[in-house]
Amino acid sequence: MLTTTQTIAWLNNFADKIETNKAYLNDLDTPIGDGDHGSNMVRGLTAVKATLADKSDADLTTVFKAAALALISKVGGAAGPLYGTAFLEMAKASKNGDADLDPLLTAALAGLKKRGGAVAGDKTLIDVWTPVTAAVQADQLTPAVISEAVERTKPMVAKKGRASYLGDRSIGHLDPGAVSSGYLFTALLETVAQ
Ligand code: ADP
Ligand code: MG
Ligand code: MG
Repeated sequence: MLTTTQTIAWLNNFADKIETNKAYLNDLDTPIGDGDHGSNMVRGLTAVKATLADKSDADLTTVFKAAALALISKVGGAAGPLYGTAFLEMAKASKNGDADLDPLLTAALAGLKKRGGAVAGDKTLIDVWTPVTAAVQADQLTPAVISEAVERTKPMVAKKGRASYLGDRSIGHLDPGAVSSGYLFTALLETVAQ
C-alpha cells in the first residue's frame, strides 16, 4: 500500500539521484544519442519536486497526476512524455482507491509500451520496467533485480529511439533511459518497498 507521504519521498529521492547523476546520464546519452538525457531529466524532476512541495495532504491520484504533468510539460525529448505517461497511468490506476504497487506499475508499463511502441529487448527503459514490474508482482524486488536489468541493456541492439539510428553500433553501451529508470526503482526500494 502506497501512501502520499511515501510517494512524495519516493519521487523526491528519484529527483535527488537524477540530479547527482546528471553528467553521467548525459555521458551515457552521448555515444548513442544526443547527450541530453541527464539535462532533460533534471529539468523534469526539478519541476516534479516543486509541484509536490504542497501536495502532502493530497490523495495519490493528485500526486501522480501532478508529477506526470510536470514531466510532460517540462521535458523536451522522448523521456519526458514516456515518464509522464507512466505516472499518468499510475494516477488513473489509483483512482479506484487502489494503492498497491503491483497494479500501478502494471498500468504504467502498459502505458509506456503503448506510447513508445517498444517491447522488451529493444534497449529502452522498457527493459528495466518489465523485469521490475514482474519482480514487484512476485514480491521479489531487490537491488540486484534492478542493476541486472540495467546491465542487460549493454549488449542489446537499439530498436527504438535515437540509439536505433546506430544499429549495431549501439551495442556495448548502457541505455540512458534504462539507467534513469534504475534510479527510479532504487529510490522506490529505499523509500517504499522495504
Ligand atoms: P531524446 O532521445 O529525445 O533526446 P532522452 O535522451 O531524454 O530523449 O531519452 C532517451 C531515452 O528514452 C532512451 O535511452 C530510451 O530509454 C528512451 N526511449 C526513447 N524512445 C523510446 C521508445 N520508443 N520507447 C521506450 N523508451 C524510449
Ligand atoms: Mg537524448
Ligand atoms: Mg534530445
